[in-house]
Order: sequence, then C-alpha cells, then structure tokens
Amino acid sequence: MPIDFEKITSLAKRRGFFFQGSEIYGGLNGTWDYGPLGVELLKNVKQAWWRAMVQMRDDIVGIDSAILLNPEVWRASGHLENFTDPLVDCKECKMRWRADHLEGDRCPNCGGELTEPRQFNLMFKTFVGPVEGDAAVVYLRPETAQGIFVDFKAVQGMTRKRLPFGIAQQGKSFRNEISPGNSIFRSREFEQMECEYFVRPEQADEAYRSWVQERYNWYLSLGMKPESLRLREHEQSELSHYSAGTTDVEFLYPWGWGELEGIANRTDFDLRRHSEFSGKDLSYVDETTSEKFYPYVIEPAAGATRSALAFMCDAYDEAVVNGEQRTFLRLHKSLAPYKVAVLPLSKKENLSAVARQVEKSLRPHFMITYDETQSIGKRYARQDEIGTPYCVTVDFDSLEDHAVTIRERDSMAQERVPIAELVPALREKLEG
Ligand code: ATP
Repeated sequence: MPIDFEKITSLAKRRGFFFQGSEIYGGLNGTWDYGPLGVELLKNVKQAWWRAMVQMRDDIVGIDSAILLNPEVWRASGHLENFTDPLVDCKECKMRWRADHLEGDRCPNCGGELTEPRQFNLMFKTFVGPVEGDAAVVYLRPETAQGIFVDFKAVQGMTRKRLPFGIAQQGKSFRNEISPGNSIFRSREFEQMECEYFVRPEQADEAYRSWVQERYNWYLSLGMKPESLRLREHEQSELSHYSAGTTDVEFLYPWGWGELEGIANRTDFDLRRHSEFSGKDLSYVDETTSEKFYPYVIEPAAGATRSALAFMCDAYDEAVVNGEQRTFLRLHKSLAPYKVAVLPLSKKENLSAVARQVEKSLRPHFMITYDETQSIGKRYARQDEIGTPYCVTVDFDSLEDHAVTIRERDSMAQERVPIAELVPALREKLEG
C-alpha cells in the first residue's frame, strides 16, 4: 500500500529535513529550506552521485559553471523559444494550470471553463547592472547542462580527454513552474546532477542504452527497492526538440509514478548550435584519423532534491516494536544524515563524562549526534525515525569494562565493543 505522503512531509518538517521557504512571511510558493538533517541527506545524495560519476571514473571530469550565463546561450540552446509549458486560466476562479497535466477540460478547482492554452516560458528573468533595460536581461539557468556545453572545448583542452568522455556538474537550477507541488518534487528552485557524455555519433545509441542501465543501477546500489523503480522510454511525440531518444527512470511516489531522472540522446544539437551562435568552432578532431566532427552527447539528468525526496519515501517504514507503533527511515548508510548517535544511558555525571569522551573521539571520523534527554527507548526511536544506522550506548558497565554497546537500526541487534576499538568497528560497519 502506498504510504501517506502527509506522513513524509510532516516528518520532514518536524525533524528538520525540509520545510516551506520564508515561512514566517507566509512562505514563497515553490521554494523550500533544508534543515539540519535535510542538508546532510542532500549532501550525501550529491556526494554519492559525484563518487559514482567522477571519482570512480577516468572518463568523466567535474566542473561548476556560473548560474548566470550570457543570454545568447539560451537563444542557441532553444530555451528562449521552446522552454515553455502550456498554461490555461480558469475563467471563473482565475486559477492557473499546466494544460498537459490536466485530465479533463474543466478547472480542477471549481469546474469552470478554461482559456485556450498559451505557451509560458519557464525561465526566470533578472537584470545585470544598475539599469533595468532590455540589454541587461539575463536568465537564471533552468538546467545545469548548458554551462557544460559552453565549456566543452575549454575543458577538453585543459584535460586532454579523448572521446568518449564526460563532464559532470551539480548545482541549483530555477524554473518558474506553473504549478509547483508535491513538496520538493516540483519546486521553482532546485538542485540538479547532470552529466554530458560525449561520444562518436555511431556509438551514441549504444552509449545511451548503457547509461540508462547504469543510472537505474545507481539507485539500486543506494538501497532503493526494485519495485519502486521503472524505466519508461518516451514516445516519438514526447521527445524534446534536441532528443533522438529519452528514457526516464521513474519512481513510485506516494501519489503514483513520476520522473526521477531523464537520460537523453541529445545528438550533436547543442554543440552545433553553440558553434553557430558563438562563432567558435566546438567540433572535435580525432587525433589518429584527423577526422573533424561534432560529438553526440548522452545526458543523464537527475534531480538532487527530487532524489532526496524519493530516497526518503522509499526508506519510510512503520513497524510495531514492543507493542508501540514506530517509524523507521531505512536509509542506506551512505545517505543517512547522522551515521552514529552517542547515547549515555542516563544523565548521571560519571556517565556523561565517558559519553562526551566517546563523542569527542568519533566526531573527526563520522557525522554524529549526541543525545541524553528522555528515556533510552525514546532516544532509539528518535534515531530510527531519522535513519541513523548505529547508536552507541554508554552504560554503567562502561565505567568498569571500558566498552560500549553498538545497536543497529534495522536488526536492532546489539554488540559490545571496547571503546578503544570503536572507530575501526564503526568504520567497518559503515563502509563494509
Ligand atoms: P517535468 O516533465 O517533470 O517538468 P522535465 O522532464 O522537464 O520534468 P528535466 O528537464 O529532464 O525535467 O530535468 C532533469 C531532472 O531535474 C528531472 O528528472 C528532475 O529530477 C529534476 N527537476 C526538473 N524540474 C524540477 C523541479 N521543478 N523541481 C525539482 N526537480 C526538478
């Protein structure tokens, strides 16, 4: 049975994963703030992606390009012309909807008549410099990809990479979505993780298929359940203006299947267009054959914030423990915000002193938390609810045997470990 999404969003807010941005002013629709736990989860998602895409591969390098780009970039990429969604207005209640998301032809709010759809550009406009004139208009990037294309030649020159090779980037993107919703699933400011993988044109189809598999497997490697994931290939009519093939990795959100990541064969569209518009030749010369051509590009484009939400939904679990209804976030260890919680059995001074020492010895190695309020049972429950894989309990025996108990979140199994061996023992559990 699908879980109630309200349970996820209320946990997210109560424990500090994410919540409405600018809340004390009534919020700003489509913006979200990440709290102390959310910022860790998001960082871990991005770190896992960076490790798989950049650190572990010799054929991909990373960059971090500017968010504000020369506006010509968006003319060349087709965003100024095509990055639009069909917008309809309700003639009665004046609410606005995305026409391609509606099931019927009446307003979902009041049943009123809708206007004809008109195209609405999703890019946020702003101005550079002190004069708000047309000449100074720039756009907040709606995707990280274009920053990669404009740097393609420079990065290839700096790194002397030969085809096939890729450039990866993570960062904020902005879209003035007509109807942001489902919490951080669709927001107006969000984070993406994108890679542009350049190949010889004749190898594009094979590379595209293998990237689809590779990216699907990445989610599984981080503990996502196979039944929560599926691949959906786009119909010809659905393809973006640049694409020769797109497959979405879809996730089963509490409200149904939806996109998590798109993998597209963008052909040589972007490099050709940027060559044409910039007047700089972005073609590639094969060193051995001296052939000159525009590489094709395969793009795995994922949402970092959207993935964080999907990992949370997938990890959410409820179980009855000792007759009590409990919540668990069964996050993969590498994604969990805190790796270890240090919990003295009681607040007694002699225990606190040892527990504080244990805390101090762990801090340089792991992201940890310390908690000495309330009963130990309540504290275990609080850690289970935020996904902490290990709790280290300091009890009265610790004063004698200089050992502590490690409790594992999912099995609740407990193990006694000498304090002197705690760091390597936890490291083995967390990395093993
Ligand atoms: P949709 O059809 O849902 O509007 P899209 O197909 O336009 O999305 P892409 O342009 O392929 O999305 O973006 C790549 C990824 O970036 C998406 O798979 C998603 O994870 C993320 N993403 C896109 N738009 C948003 C948004 N408004 N909020 C959060 N994440 C987003």
